[in-house]
Amino acid sequence: MNPAEPTAPPSAPTLCLHGQGIVRGYTIGRAVIMSAASLEVAHYHVGPADIEAEGLRLRHAIDTAVAELRQMAGALPPDAPRELAALLSVHGLLLEDPMLVQSACELITERHYNAEWALATQGQLLVEQFSMMEDAYLRERSADIRQVIERVLRVLSGSSAWLPALDTAQADGNFIVVARDISPADMMRLRSGKFAAFLTDLGGATSHTAIVARSLNVPAVVGMGHVRALVRDGDQLIVDGTNGVVLVNPSERILLEYRERQAAFQRERAELKRLRHAPAVTLDGIQIRMEANIELPDEAADALAAGAEGIGLFRSEFLFMGRPDLPDEDEQYEAYASVVSAMGGRPVTIRTLDIGADKTLDGDATVATNPALGLRAIRYCLANPDMFHTQLRALLRASRHGCVRILLPMISHMHEVRAAQRAIERAAEQLRDEGIPYAEGIQVGAMVEIPAMAIAIEPFAEALDFLSIGTNDLIQYVLAIDRGDKDVAALYDPMHPAVLRLIAHTINVGERVGKLVSVCGEMAGDARVTRMLLGLGLTAFSMHPQQLLDVKKEIRLAHSNALRVQVASALNRAERIDLAALS
Ligand code: PEP
Ligand code: MG
Repeated sequence: MNPAEPTAPPSAPTLCLHGQGIVRGYTIGRAVIMSAASLEVAHYHVGPADIEAEGLRLRHAIDTAVAELRQMAGALPPDAPRELAALLSVHGLLLEDPMLVQSACELITERHYNAEWALATQGQLLVEQFSMMEDAYLRERSADIRQVIERVLRVLSGSSAWLPALDTAQADGNFIVVARDISPADMMRLRSGKFAAFLTDLGGATSHTAIVARSLNVPAVVGMGHVRALVRDGDQLIVDGTNGVVLVNPSERILLEYRERQAAFQRERAELKRLRHAPAVTLDGIQIRMEANIELPDEAADALAAGAEGIGLFRSEFLFMGRPDLPDEDEQYEAYASVVSAMGGRPVTIRTLDIGADKTLDGDATVATNPALGLRAIRYCLANPDMFHTQLRALLRASRHGCVRILLPMISHMHEVRAAQRAIERAAEQLRDEGIPYAEGIQVGAMVEIPAMAIAIEPFAEALDFLSIGTNDLIQYVLAIDRGDKDVAALYDPMHPAVLRLIAHTINVGERVGKLVSVCGEMAGDARVTRMLLGLGLTAFSMHPQQLLDVKKEIRLAHSNALRVQVASALNRAERIDLAALS
């Protein structure tokens, strides 16, 4: 720091906030507060003299929301899905429905509720009534009611848009989204905006929101607790994604220091790029396979640019999220085929739909008692055979453009493997009968992410062509720690001996029966644990493209066999492994 630099005036102290950094790097920019989409609102009683004004405030907010919807409908691009216009008009109609408006106004006049409380109470009632209806179409409307109420609540809170309109001349376009939480679907929507960083109150490092942020490759800090309450729109922020630190309204001196760190980080990235074509081989000659995780087809280009040898995990569910309908077979086929063709013969591992838990389909009003343990992933697909069949046909059709591998998520029972294999067979037979081409002999593998499967892995390893360890869920289920819950994030411990033993066991059995075992959870892309994974015997990694070179650098400096001896002896004693001591 230059001692001659002016210090900040005492009226603007720099605030320093902490969370979990999930994407390395530094950003300096301006805060954009994302309004909360929640029915949790302030509850207070309005005085008798203010009741009329409160009623008017509610009616005015509803009128504004209706006008917003009309404006959006009028501005839809010609190629927007037809359903979108219909959906906007349904939302407008719901807002004009007396059941909602009048009843909420009555809560203001009769019980003296504030406008937000009245609207949320009436809305909640309607959501419950609709979600219990027998008719599936009406049941789905409960999600629409929730969305329109959230829209009006945003108007009431003074922030009418989901994100405020951005003045792109400001802050050189370096906008930093500050939110209570961002759902994976919202994060996908933010992809198209120009955001330089993300900060959230909630969330853990392996939540799906964090995973999508990583695929955007902009610094992000999650689990910050109160960032949304402490930061105002337009505040200048420094985001240190490497250390999970955010500085609010920093002094000139601090800004200078961070500009230097930013420049050093960029130099380091540029240096790493030279490893792109270097082989991923350890010092003792063990060849390591390095593949990429992607969420959307256009990320195949990032994978290639980072030197990936294939796609180790294509999370197909992101094609299904943030839209009112499901992609049909042709749309899915186009998406899969574009990745397969882009990868030019390199393997592309496409995971069948892993919907459920924090990844929900729009309009799916199902409320699972415990979503992480509920109808998720393969369970959802086997319970919705038509949807599964459509995806399998699309996957098989895409296989003729290169090398497709099908990956089944959340397997716990052998009968699920057999049912999925039969479903693949059926889809193939149908294509054959229709004369539609596909590649024969597609490899079918499964995610190892439920402890039961990892413990009793032998029959799975025999029956499947490959295994891919999903450490994000495996850790969550072994340690009973919700991967998205910031309050228990400190207990989410990838280095727990129980977790490492399950990974080691899976790798050992895979080696014994001659099946490829890779890791595609976030651990694979964390260069701090690369040596440990090599020590467990891992020879195939799949991670976000932007992490590939950091991990490759570690691999090229490691002695795989020596690491195996060290790690095996610690695991035999169920000891914690000291990462710093691994040579
Ligand atoms: C995992 O669980 O480690 C995994 C890769 O799958 P996802 O993060 O999509 O649940
Ligand atoms: Mg998983």
